[in-house]
Amino acid sequence: MNVAQILDDATTQIAAALGLDKRVARLEARVLASHGWAVETAWLIAHDTDALSDKQIAAFQSLLLLRLEGQPIAYLIGTREFYGRPFLVTPDVLIPRPDTELLVELALERIPPDRSMDILDLGTGSGCIAITLALERPLARITAADRSTAALAVAHRNAEHLGARVEFMTSNWFAAFSGRKFDLIVSNPPYVAAADPHLIRGDVRFEPLSALTAGQDGLDDLRQLTRSAREHLQVGGTLLMEHSYDQAEAVQGLLRTHGINDAYGWADLAGVSRVSGGKLSE
Ligand code: GLN
Repeated sequence: MNVAQILDDATTQIAAALGLDKRVARLEARVLASHGWAVETAWLIAHDTDALSDKQIAAFQSLLLLRLEGQPIAYLIGTREFYGRPFLVTPDVLIPRPDTELLVELALERIPPDRSMDILDLGTGSGCIAITLALERPLARITAADRSTAALAVAHRNAEHLGARVEFMTSNWFAAFSGRKFDLIVSNPPYVAAADPHLIRGDVRFEPLSALTAGQDGLDDLRQLTRSAREHLQVGGTLLMEHSYDQAEAVQGLLRTHGINDAYGWADLAGVSRVSGGKLSE
């Protein structure tokens, strides 16, 4: 079997098993092959008539089988790009999503590049938010917390690989931060409703449920965050939280209830409000 044949065959299988478009399935087949054979995707095109060794075929087939079972590509190749940088990911962490780049943009708009500021990222997972902020704003003092030590181990490795200075702490939301205040608090907490039907389809089936779901209405963790945020914000400080497409009103209500003024929502490129936050003005 040569390179083109194995990729064609895999494309057909991926498309059929996962109900994907042929074009997407072909991209996935290439990504798996380039990972399995440690070659660039350009190599695959230049070498399409090369014959493959049994070892190469076996390496590819084992990745393909896992993908056909639905395992996310990011876990199979161990990496996912976020804000232009590669992050290591394992099944201990949520796979970084492009949606979360909105939260990062909003945070960056609030962090001056020329002075230091205290920033906290709660539920950091892979560390993609905290590490991106640290690399984009080297003067900021960034603390990132997660209650999962397995997730923190991944975040640590990412910070090391990417050369970011972040202080990591084990903490269930604000638990380990008693008495500490920050200028900016950001979070992409779990916000999916426990019975949401999309949890039984696609990549999410393989992601940590503890990073995805938050009670019956998906708001349990957002409630906890907003309830304690006031104690941990400097006057003039901002809280920014990602949430689901239908939670903006509820989250902004929570912010007002808990004394975070100027509650406001920001829309993504599709015009859907996916981040809400506010400022502690007195
Ligand atoms: N946006 C993700 C999803 O719907 C959920 C991420 C999260 O809960 N923080 O799959």
